Amino acid sequence: MNILVLGSGGREHALCWKLAQCRAIRENGGTLFASPGNPGIAQCATLAKIDAGDHAAVVAFARAKDIGLVVIGPEAPLVAGLADSLRGAGVPVFGPSKAAARLEGSKSFTKDLCARAGIPTAGYVHATSLPDAKAALDRFAAPWVLKADGLAAGKGVVIAETREAAEDALVEMFGGAFGEAGAEVVIEEFMKGEEVSLFALSDGETVVPFGTAQDHKRVGEGDTGPNTGGMGAYSPARVLTEGLLARAMTEIVAPTVRQMAAEGAPYSGVLYAGLMLTDDGPKLVEYNCRFGDPECQVLMVRLDSDLADAMLACANGTLAGRPAPRFSDETALTVVMAAKGYPGTPEKGGSIDLGGAEADGAIVFHAGTARGEDGTLTANGGRVLNVTATGDTVHEARHRAYRGVDAISFASGFTRRDIGWREVEREG
Ligand code: ATP
Repeated sequence: MNILVLGSGGREHALCWKLAQCRAIRENGGTLFASPGNPGIAQCATLAKIDAGDHAAVVAFARAKDIGLVVIGPEAPLVAGLADSLRGAGVPVFGPSKAAARLEGSKSFTKDLCARAGIPTAGYVHATSLPDAKAALDRFAAPWVLKADGLAAGKGVVIAETREAAEDALVEMFGGAFGEAGAEVVIEEFMKGEEVSLFALSDGETVVPFGTAQDHKRVGEGDTGPNTGGMGAYSPARVLTEGLLARAMTEIVAPTVRQMAAEGAPYSGVLYAGLMLTDDGPKLVEYNCRFGDPECQVLMVRLDSDLADAMLACANGTLAGRPAPRFSDETALTVVMAAKGYPGTPEKGGSIDLGGAEADGAIVFHAGTARGEDGTLTANGGRVLNVTATGDTVHEARHRAYRGVDAISFASGFTRRDIGWREVEREG
């Protein structure tokens, strides 16, 4: 079976790395294609150049190359309905429909769905005008959580400590600071606890857990400074104990999948639940309709079962009765090497020499890299490399990952040196 992966980040490199090891590709003579890919992905897939915004072009490529499974990596094409176009053309696709991707694309849709299905999440008010939003502040105590509706690349959330700061933020949001995404705002009760990511695979009806992770969103050590797409992650997140995981599946993820199906928008693909572990149990912070980046990288290096088979079962509605996906008991940890300036304007073009980074078993997933005609590798984005390693403990995985990082010469890059600190502290 031929497979096409769409995307160009570290997440897609990890997906291609794993898919290249699947029976469909390794044993059955299938070809793995990726578009647009990156220099790392080029090592395990055949690169193609298809405009993911041009649905007819993606369908045409899938037909021409006899693609048996399309895997859509990032959220934007999902929210734009690419999965619908492919399904409509009879091409099996891993990823939710446009209607189902609203779980990520619209915060108010998700909050309203949680209310209808009785799913534990923060109390909220959905406001469509500045006066309504200001009035809604009275209903919550400090700190106030304010979210622009729609996709805002992780930058649409403000946590305001004072009433004045909350009002100022609302004025900005309704004033167009987030463009379309700010025309509606969700104001939420603040949830206290530790955050954790839970992944699940769904075929629209059946849903199974697919690993846990914890990431580090802030750019600075000690979780300080501005938010980023993620500076590192590790898996599993043992703070989500088996009991809490079962509770999160029963109380949050399964009812969501049931409710989506009942409302005519069955969810198929990976459902990524951002959870807050509160004193009252797990509560939903947000849903994403694709794998996290860099959480995907740590899940893929722990996954022992066949990824293509599992994805195809989601695409074809045949998850029920299959053996559960298997993950190794090891811990995996990934460190993001970013270009100086990130998450602002990153320095482009800095040269990279990977040296012996993979000598000790670490895997270097590429995100924003480019390869020059002379073969030199350069930085071509904010997050550039994801150095990923496994170990019996977080300590060990982290030690190996940083040994990989230290073997790389990338003068215009930087990393956080404390990825996994919570778990390292717990391990003692
Ligand atoms: P992301 O880029 O993480 O997907 P997003 O724009 O979709 O971000 P959320 O995930 O909803 O926004 O919120 C971002 C972060 O703000 C969360 O990871 C969490 O740390 C914090 N947060 C959001 N809602 C709450 C809440 N109700 N209580 C406490 N913290 C919250």
